[in-house]
Amino acid sequence: MVWIVCFWSTLVNLSLAAGFRTVVIDAGHGGKDNGGSYGKVYEKHLALDTAMRVEYLLNQKGYRTRMTRKSDQYISLAKRSAIGNRYSNSIFVSIHYNHASRKGAKGIETFYYSSRAKTLASYVHSGMLAKVRVVNRGVKYGRFYVLRHTKNPSVLIECAFVSNHSDRSKSKKGWYRQALAEGIVNGIIRYQNGRERGVLR
Ligand SMILES: [Zn+2]
Repeated sequence: MVWIVCFWSTLVNLSLAAGFRTVVIDAGHGGKDNGGSYGKVYEKHLALDTAMRVEYLLNQKGYRTRMTRKSDQYISLAKRSAIGNRYSNSIFVSIHYNHASRKGAKGIETFYYSSRAKTLASYVHSGMLAKVRVVNRGVKYGRFYVLRHTKNPSVLIECAFVSNHSDRSKSKKGWYRQALAEGIVNGIIRYQNGRERGVLR
């Protein structure tokens, strides 16, 4: 009997070793840093709301999470990466809304920096596209600070343009942010499954 228990616990340990243990969720901006804005629509509020929905859904599925901020609070980029790096076996998901001087720019895009995070970025991105009808701006390489300074696989999501009329009206609606959160979580789960099956690292 003892050897069966040992064998089983070895299997469980192997699967834990392959998958990540914590999802660090980073709501962009906060406090004095509003991020992009249009009238009273601030990126920092949309990002935090979406991030909290992601956290809730992940916790429901039994995932461990760590938010870099849970309120309207200013946190430096260095601090955000440092929080991410505190969790050695984690992934880092930064949530933003976009802004452009060209009012016509719209849609969602997802960035990665390390090639290791490219699969996570594409899973999260296609997860969102499966949930909402928006312009697909694609999965892109980006040199954002938090992506360059976080050691674990990290992605940065731009959920919609607050500077665009139709994107902004959607972003203000709870169902849109909920649908995006569900898509992001589905992407994260798909990525974890790939890691646990050993087809991803
Ligand atoms: Zn931003």
